[in-house]
Amino acid sequence: MPDHIHYQDLGFGISCIDTMLQRQGLAACYLIEHEGMAGFIDTGTSNSIPILLEVLKRKGIIREQVAYVMPTHVHLDHAGGSGGLMREFPNAVLLAHPRGARHLIDPGKLIKGSLAVYGEAAFKAMFGELVPVDADRVREMGDEFEIDFNGRKLVFLDTPGHARHHYCVFDELSAGLFTGDTFGTSYPELNLGKGRFIFPPSTPVQFDPAAWQNTLDRLLTYKPERVFLTHFGMHEEVDVLCKLLKQAIRDYAETAQEYVEAENRSDRITQSILQASVNYLLDQNCGIDVATIHHLIQRDMELNAQGLDHWLTTLD
Ligand SMILES: [Zn+2]
Repeated sequence: MPDHIHYQDLGFGISCIDTMLQRQGLAACYLIEHEGMAGFIDTGTSNSIPILLEVLKRKGIIREQVAYVMPTHVHLDHAGGSGGLMREFPNAVLLAHPRGARHLIDPGKLIKGSLAVYGEAAFKAMFGELVPVDADRVREMGDEFEIDFNGRKLVFLDTPGHARHHYCVFDELSAGLFTGDTFGTSYPELNLGKGRFIFPPSTPVQFDPAAWQNTLDRLLTYKPERVFLTHFGMHEEVDVLCKLLKQAIRDYAETAQEYVEAENRSDRITQSILQASVNYLLDQNCGIDVATIHHLIQRDMELNAQGLDHWLTTLD
């Protein structure tokens, strides 16, 4: 049995499960239960599978009850466990974004892309083994496709900005949006000050600030009362967070452009966005020292800078 099982019931039959990627409180996935049906939104990595199975067991849900596995997009902290989970759940259908489906069926390109971002040692430690999903168990979910989750409506929305293979799921019953990376990253430890702290994961290679702004405006038209972030947890100050995130996306794009001609561009951007985040957090009396802030977000900022650096190469 896995040592570290952390999950929280959020009401509406929704549980937030910590997938224990690198540390507690970094990455989550969500279990939905409704009238005897179960489904996962995001999966964690292959290493998270024993945690998810243990949570099902503790809740008295049998594997045959799991009807859907729903990775919001194919980045491995969200979808890496998909194939392994599908092997455990004989009745499940994998609901995939049309641009992501083929990568879950044949994960070769995903592995190659992630190796390029993370390097081999970190890749293996973080993501483990990727299991392909049988093509006949995959259903592609286009924009505004819906499923009837035993009487509960889930709506799938195409949400470019972080990635072009990203969907969000609107759950009518909770008036909640499962947002993957589209509604940003907001760690609980960094939300203890006056203001909220949220940033766009501008991870390589499909950061698109203009599309992202439009996506966020569109998500708000569903009038969500809560958002379920993969990084991390449920947040109910939806309008406040959205405004901050939109500003942060603009700031990131501006910062990147300031360094367009710089040498060591990616490092310079990392330093700039890390320092801006630290300054903001100290200003908000976040109650956490600089070393701890670095510990919590430095790696994110490096990945974000890599994404911004790549984005600059696409502008002309
Ligand atoms: Zn992602």
